[in-house]
Amino acid sequence: MTSAPSPAAAAAQPGETFDAIVVGAGFAGLYMLHRLRALGLRTRVFEAGSGPGGTWYWNRYPGARCDVPSMEYSYQFSDELQQEWNWSERYATQPEILRYVHHVADRFDLWPDIQFDTRVTAAHFDEARGRWIVRLDTGTEITARFCVMATGCLSSANIPDIPGREDFRGPTYHTGHWPHEGVDFTGQRVGIIGTGSSALQSIPLIAAQAAHLTVFQRTPTYAVPARNAPLDPADVARIKAHYPEIRARNWQEPFGVDFHQRSESAHAVSAEEREREFEKRWQEGTLGFLAAFSDLLIDPQANDYAAEFIRRKIRSIVKDPATAGKLLPKQVVGCKRLCLDTQYYETFNRPNVTLVDVSETPIACITPDGLKVGDTGYTFDRLVFATGFDAMTGALDKIDIRGRGGLALKEKWRAGPRTYLGLATAGFPNLFTVSGPGSPSVLSNMLPTIEQHVNWIADCIGYLETHRQRLIEARTEAEDAWVDHVNEVAGMTLYPRCNSWYLGANIPGKPRIFMPYIGVPPYVEKCRQVAANGYEGFALSA
Ligand SMILES: Cc1cc2nc3c(=O)[nH]c(=O)nc-3n(C[C@H](O)[C@H](O)[C@H](O)COP(=O)(O)OP(=O)(O)OC[C@H]3O[C@@H](n4cnc5c(N)ncnc54)[C@H](O)[C@@H]3O)c2cc1C
Repeated sequence: MTSAPSPAAAAAQPGETFDAIVVGAGFAGLYMLHRLRALGLRTRVFEAGSGPGGTWYWNRYPGARCDVPSMEYSYQFSDELQQEWNWSERYATQPEILRYVHHVADRFDLWPDIQFDTRVTAAHFDEARGRWIVRLDTGTEITARFCVMATGCLSSANIPDIPGREDFRGPTYHTGHWPHEGVDFTGQRVGIIGTGSSALQSIPLIAAQAAHLTVFQRTPTYAVPARNAPLDPADVARIKAHYPEIRARNWQEPFGVDFHQRSESAHAVSAEEREREFEKRWQEGTLGFLAAFSDLLIDPQANDYAAEFIRRKIRSIVKDPATAGKLLPKQVVGCKRLCLDTQYYETFNRPNVTLVDVSETPIACITPDGLKVGDTGYTFDRLVFATGFDAMTGALDKIDIRGRGGLALKEKWRAGPRTYLGLATAGFPNLFTVSGPGSPSVLSNMLPTIEQHVNWIADCIGYLETHRQRLIEARTEAEDAWVDHVNEVAGMTLYPRCNSWYLGANIPGKPRIFMPYIGVPPYVEKCRQVAANGYEGFALSA
């Protein structure tokens, strides 16, 4: 039953005390609030945006949609919720996902404990009181015993520091901060910088509307057709009838979603069989293309079979051989996020689309009416930055977080993020990160893994309450061992082989550390064991 929406929280008062504060009202913050309230904790969520939804509040660019099937990219903590909500498409659009977010906020009456339009600027641990002093951009300071950073892995937009950025006369947009009223590109000449996931989703739609679109590409992207379609009611009914088994099976999958992972090596089958398997997955339209064989992300030759399959597809789709040549990715497939597309490569057959390769000659500067690559000028009326995010650590870096002895988190993480399980970091008691670096996060179906983190944090806080413990803090030895393990696992794969945002390579000066943990099942098991052993690797104090 959905009750009428309640008003959002009134502004926190100076000196107000909370049991817990949560930063961010995306999927993580919303569920965290629900769990903490159920524990009887006085909780307040602070959200910089004017509404809930996080990623799905901010990313309103044309074509924005999930690329994990909607029926699996949804909460599972409430069976009533998953039974009553009806997704309309295989891969839901941003507006539909945002409607789902609002439905969740209404259904669980979350609004009264969320304060919107409020950015947390600082969180300092007061050792004497064992509490966090949290500063808001309103100037107000409040305190809380627990601080949960649900700030998002992909929430800190990255705009490259290209000279002349302020000189451009027309409107500019970042895909991650898209205007709520939408943008009409009709009759406009548009430039777009970037060819990652958001660019791939938006380029076909912008091209269909604009007079002309110029795409500036540094690294070509591998994409598999999404083959999005309305959901068949019979399939929906079948999934809903079997949700518990489907969800349980997904927890055994490397990415927490059913990609039909095959256990054979790509070398164990004939060339014809490999081709058949890749073609089948290409026709199915799923990120599970990379689950076609067990070693596609481990063995360079196996990976190249998959890469070459996609390159052949690109050559067959794009009519102009020179343009097709520029679109062919050379890197390992999968070490940058594989994308799902709808008519992306086909868009380069349109007469109103130009592809400019800026890999060798980079963008020199932005000018009042366009930009320059080397000495060549390009003119347009509007400029879109599809340049992604300062992933995983960007949103945390923007907050002045200080733990014991006034140590700044940014300082502690200067050579790369260090966490225990991606959930906590030594020296910062009672501070938790949802989808933090060192957890599967961006290498998983994120809604289930967000829920797993939130459940772990809530259970941990519940444990502290029942065992009359005031503080919990990761031990340095446990953290060091975990960081080594994360690196060791990554080192066994091809993931660290290219300049991806998983490694921080898209941000100048950011240390190159592979941030996510690879493998949902062993990770979940480790978290379970840690909790079952009385929070092994953590120090608890009364
Ligand atoms: C375009 C796009 C498509 C995606 N598609 C998929 C997909 O198909 N499948 C998948 O698994 N994942 C996908 N993701 C990843 C997606 O980010 C996660 O699935 C999920 O939505 C993250 O939820 P979250 O609550 O952790 O973070 P977010 O949704 O990022 O929410 C974090 C919130 O914290 C707020 N915040 C940050 N700092 C502060 C501060 N200091 N003070 C106050 N508020 C703050 C932000 O404003 C934001 O609203 C996609 C990401 C993008 C960008």
